[in-house]
Amino acid sequence: MEFSIIQNNINKIFRCLEGSDTQLIAVTKTRTSEEINAAIACGVRHIGENRVQELLEKYDHIQRENVSIHLIGRLQTNKVKYIIDKVDLIHSVDSYRLAAEISKRASAINKVQDILVEINIGGEESKGGILPDELCDFLKNISSLPSLRIRGLMAIPPIQIEPHQNYEYFLKMRQLLVDISNKKLDNINMDILSMGMSDDYEDAIKAGSSFIRVGRGIFGQRNSTEVK
Ligand SMILES: *Cc1c(COP(=O)(O)O)cnc(C)c1O
Repeated sequence: MEFSIIQNNINKIFRCLEGSDTQLIAVTKTRTSEEINAAIACGVRHIGENRVQELLEKYDHIQRENVSIHLIGRLQTNKVKYIIDKVDLIHSVDSYRLAAEISKRASAINKVQDILVEINIGGEESKGGILPDELCDFLKNISSLPSLRIRGLMAIPPIQIEPHQNYEYFLKMRQLLVDISNKKLDNINMDILSMGMSDDYEDAIKAGSSFIRVGRGIFGQRNSTEVK
């Protein structure tokens, strides 16, 4: 996609962010390093990749100074070792096994890895993520892992046909974060909410999202069929 179109799209989102505490993550799955670098040249400071393989392929070609790298997709335990030295925030932790592997690999390189817990906020059978009712126990289980810092929660709400239908889920996420803070669990001090994508980021900003994750709204439709 042309630089000027990417620039216009990003500027439009930046205008929506004015006056809020929300930051933009440009979601770069299926995009080339050139497109990613164009977004960075337009002022994007966070990029999000879904797949380990894609991140590894592009990593050395991205202008990474002052740019944070986010792993936002499903992460297989056996791939943690490839990305542990490359990512600033992992958004999709939803099992003890994965959390333990991240902690172990982070320890090995003297890193404390920031993570978010993915919440299945719509209670969808087909989706990963921790159910809201199970969050407290899950946090207690992983909070003693030495090289993790649990920073907050992430959600991918159900796909909606009508606009604004995810606003209620965003509010639920916000409430979940508040409820957990009020419990004052040991070692848990969470303040990040990662929620809102191309079709609903304005509602997510309204609900107090820390990071919106926008792909198509910056780079246009993905023409490949494989990654949603
Ligand atoms: C693809 C993806 C996004 C961005 O989706 P768009 O609809 O392109 O904005 C955000 N979060 C996750 C986890 C994704 O996989």
